[in-house]
Amino acid sequence: MTVRLLIASNNQDKIREFREIFADLPLTLTHPAAEGLTLEPEETGQTFTENAIIKAMAFARATGLLTLADDSGLEVDALGGEPGVHSARYCGTAKDDHAGRYRLVLQKLAESGVPWEQRTARYRCVVAVAVGDRLVGTVEGTVEGYIAYQPKGSGGFGYDPVFYVPEYNCTMAELTPAQKHAISHRGRAARAAIPLLRQALGL
Ligand code: IMP
Repeated sequence: MTVRLLIASNNQDKIREFREIFADLPLTLTHPAAEGLTLEPEETGQTFTENAIIKAMAFARATGLLTLADDSGLEVDALGGEPGVHSARYCGTAKDDHAGRYRLVLQKLAESGVPWEQRTARYRCVVAVAVGDRLVGTVEGTVEGYIAYQPKGSGGFGYDPVFYVPEYNCTMAELTPAQKHAISHRGRAARAAIPLLRQALGL
């Protein structure tokens, strides 16, 4: 028996990654467009957790399905934690302008002459699980790295070409999907969410 799980996101890259991460589990993943839903809840929260809960609850209520929402982003220490919760539209960049966003990060770090040791950053992902009117819980995953001087690689999405991963000596965009998911914020949060999914199902 497989269980239907709604990934409460309109971001195709996130949906693909959750499919890859949960590939071995008895879950049938679906997403809003596949359910004929055009809901885009406003992300009014100040934190990843608040926004993950807003999305999970909105989609769970609208569908009655077991629902998982991800709110995530990049925190650059030398930029005071920016882009943070604003990662998807940093400084007004268009939603699909991934290169524009990471160029802005590179430009800001270059302008203030930040040395390599201080180019530390992390990806953070909060996953919220809800079913019907009930929030089951939230979990978090992070991965630490550095902001590279130049983009490299074509895998992943978003800021991955400039996120340098010390243990692999390359950027996140140069990793295979399996390598990325083994260490990524999303992979870690998704695996931590498995007990919440079981709990929601009474297993
Ligand atoms: P959200 O839809 O508000 O959670 O925005 C997440 C944004 O953070 C994405 O649009 C990306 O810009 C960035 N982001 C989150 N996870 C990743 C990742 O795994 N790689 C690269 N960028 C990411």
